[in-house]
Amino acid sequence: MRDLRLDRRGFAKLALGSLAALAVPGCGSGLDYTDADRAALERQRREEAAASGRGPLGPLRFQGYRGLADLPYFELAPDGALRLAVEIPAPFDFHTHLGIAVLFAPAIDLQARTPRTVYLLDCDGSDPGCPFDLDVYQNANFSEAAHAALEAELRDQGLPWGSAAARTHTLANLLAELDAMGGARAAVLGMALGLPWNDRVTETWMQAIAESPARDRFVPFASVHPRDAGWRAKLRGFAARGARGVKLHPEMQRFAPDDPEAMEIYAECERLGLPVIFHAGRSGIEPEWMRPYALIRHYTPAIEAFPRVQFLLGHAGARDVADAVTAAQRYPNVWLEIACQGATQLAAILDTVGPERVVFGSDWPFYPLAATLAKVLLVTEGRPAARAAILQGNAERVFAAAAATRA
Ligand SMILES: [Zn+2]
Repeated sequence: MRDLRLDRRGFAKLALGSLAALAVPGCGSGLDYTDADRAALERQRREEAAASGRGPLGPLRFQGYRGLADLPYFELAPDGALRLAVEIPAPFDFHTHLGIAVLFAPAIDLQARTPRTVYLLDCDGSDPGCPFDLDVYQNANFSEAAHAALEAELRDQGLPWGSAAARTHTLANLLAELDAMGGARAAVLGMALGLPWNDRVTETWMQAIAESPARDRFVPFASVHPRDAGWRAKLRGFAARGARGVKLHPEMQRFAPDDPEAMEIYAECERLGLPVIFHAGRSGIEPEWMRPYALIRHYTPAIEAFPRVQFLLGHAGARDVADAVTAAQRYPNVWLEIACQGATQLAAILDTVGPERVVFGSDWPFYPLAATLAKVLLVTEGRPAARAAILQGNAERVFAAAAATRA
């Protein structure tokens, strides 16, 4: 329980860095993190930057998210927001979150509509918008200053004034974007940070969904912390109140996916018939001490031990996408959720893994839905069956396969 206690070091780290640093002990994960791991991350960054614009779709550079209206798929509504301009299967977005207010932060009115959504990485935050390249991992588009602003917003999610951006991450704003993107539905993924108090993200978001007139557009996913002694009772309660899956973020929650405590969660998910969506792989913008938790080699023992549990690897393994693809090829219970992957990489995933194991996700409110949706539409041009599977059909298959194990 040491990890859940707030101490002086925790406060110092809170002032300096992200919320996740708060509860971590000073000594790091204790997992091995080799020079080869570091080199693989740097190589991925280098090769991706060099290859941008040289893939099958050519250069895909825009001015801000709004610039995506240059594609035939989108247009700008009178209020300046992007909206879909073509008919597509109503997308199911497997990866969204709402505004976070924990620790000292005041509650957010999640039913409020605000003039615009302030994305956590906001390419529309300036005029003109930032140069936005669809052919690199999405976070590569942002400057040092943008990443510093992100860190400040994450910290403010736990401080007495709260995060200004998070006050725009409401159900009503998400719904407006779902409406603008073809009447989409969204999985809303909770987060159990393991904080010493006011750590009720799943509870708050499920309550907001239950109170929303558009509740059938949202699918709540619960999160529990493997080192919370009460996780099992909480998870059963969430499932009883309508949670349809579990979200785990090994980096933010500071556990390895093959920890014995975490294995117990997957066993419970099998009994409850719930799929598990992981943040998986290194994004490359997290502090280095978090990275060992996200290495795909710590996910495969869980995937192997629970062949009937459906595991979604978030961001298709992020910058560890090569290892996630290998896992998807080896294990039939692995699905790749593709938020943030670049267009050429996404095309390669469809070639190697096949569209039947890929699901759409956006990671809203880090980014707008249109950012990853644009890439799905580009790589499935002329392939309506693949497009329908990624946007809609595969999500239904995930839930059906998960429900089959319900005890
Ligand atoms: Zn996310």
